Amino acid sequence: MSDKFMDINKLREDFPILKEKINNYNLVYFDNAATSQKPNQVLDAMLEFYTKYNSNIHRSANAFGEKATIAFEQARVTIAKFINAEPEEIIFTSGTTESINFVAFTWALDNLKPADEIVISELEHHSNMVPWQQVAIKTGAKIKLIPVGLDWELDLSNLDDIITKNTKIVAITGASNVLGTHVDLKPIVKRAKQVGAKVLVDAAQSVSHKKIDVKAIDCDFMAFSGHKMLAPTGVGILFIKKDLQDQVKPYQFGGGMVFEVDYDKASWLKNRQKYEAGTQPIAQAIGFGAAIDYFNNKIDMEQMAKHEANLCKRAIDGLQAIGGIKILGPIDRLKKTGHLVSFVVEGIHSHDVAAYLSDFGICIRAGHNCAQPLAKKIGIDAAVRVSFYFYNTEDEVDYFLSKMGEIRNNF
Ligand code: PMP
Repeated sequence: MSDKFMDINKLREDFPILKEKINNYNLVYFDNAATSQKPNQVLDAMLEFYTKYNSNIHRSANAFGEKATIAFEQARVTIAKFINAEPEEIIFTSGTTESINFVAFTWALDNLKPADEIVISELEHHSNMVPWQQVAIKTGAKIKLIPVGLDWELDLSNLDDIITKNTKIVAITGASNVLGTHVDLKPIVKRAKQVGAKVLVDAAQSVSHKKIDVKAIDCDFMAFSGHKMLAPTGVGILFIKKDLQDQVKPYQFGGGMVFEVDYDKASWLKNRQKYEAGTQPIAQAIGFGAAIDYFNNKIDMEQMAKHEANLCKRAIDGLQAIGGIKILGPIDRLKKTGHLVSFVVEGIHSHDVAAYLSDFGICIRAGHNCAQPLAKKIGIDAAVRVSFYFYNTEDEVDYFLSKMGEIRNNF
């Protein structure tokens, strides 16, 4: 634990949007798993770029071009350090979805054949499921699933039968966007390595809530989005392990990634540089770097996780006290390590719950949460999800619980 003291009320002052109102009610933003809010430090970094040195990067030999290139590359270094990667292993994309599609439509299409197997889990977000279905259709490879057990955890008891010598890639989430549970990646990565399979981690919901170390995880690919961790939309990361980059072709072709071009052929730059074609999301990447600086300067990841789990515990206890509400997920674990709570209210559709709460300033998510197969497996068509970040408070949870009580009484 570091010596950073996280004064939540002070941190909230960095987020101008948290002072907004809906229908004259103070905003309570509990939809952080969908996207997080942005602090002034991130907004200012982007505004400074646009108002003081807006220019393209890696091409314009002028003062602004150079300054923009330095700021963009510094963001890469900052992000790399945050997950213990090398800067050369960090590729800017538009987000988690593009990062996963990148691997699916380059490495996977080039390497998978009929009878090969792709392993994912039943927890996956559509973004880490549908691209693999496409790869399976195109290559004849088969998708196998690590199931979710009755205790809501991934059931690893048959892992050796699921990940076999036919497995070429294991694409697994770091944390469930529906249940809020972090996945124990160790046994999964260990088994994948035993059989020589590559590992992709969908870290969209994990890197924003806990310290991630790509070297310790020992994955080959990792995907995550800036917007879920204080940065703007439109920028994400694909980590590709250095040693693997010779085997992973470019995903897109065009300016910026080429070495030499003739009318009938082209060659490209080496290593990471071959992956960033066209004008990059420059302002967004600079904003992403500022977001990571914010974490480094102001946030203790362990304290943050404790605070979020405490909010989960308060929400779960309160919802259970109201009654007629079924919490989805391993309750005891969520109270200790969760950052979100999904639930269904008996006899009331989740969209009605969301609409009611929204009238009183509370933003939450309702629906299948981009994980339709998991919803079907659980036997629901939709759920309510309240997802927390470090800037949420106990008072906000209590206010939300009071409105949930009204919903139970009024509907
Ligand atoms: N994976 C998970 C686990 C997610 O929660 C999300 C976003 N909800 C994604 C992938 C996709 O992220 P993005 O929409 O930023 O590409």
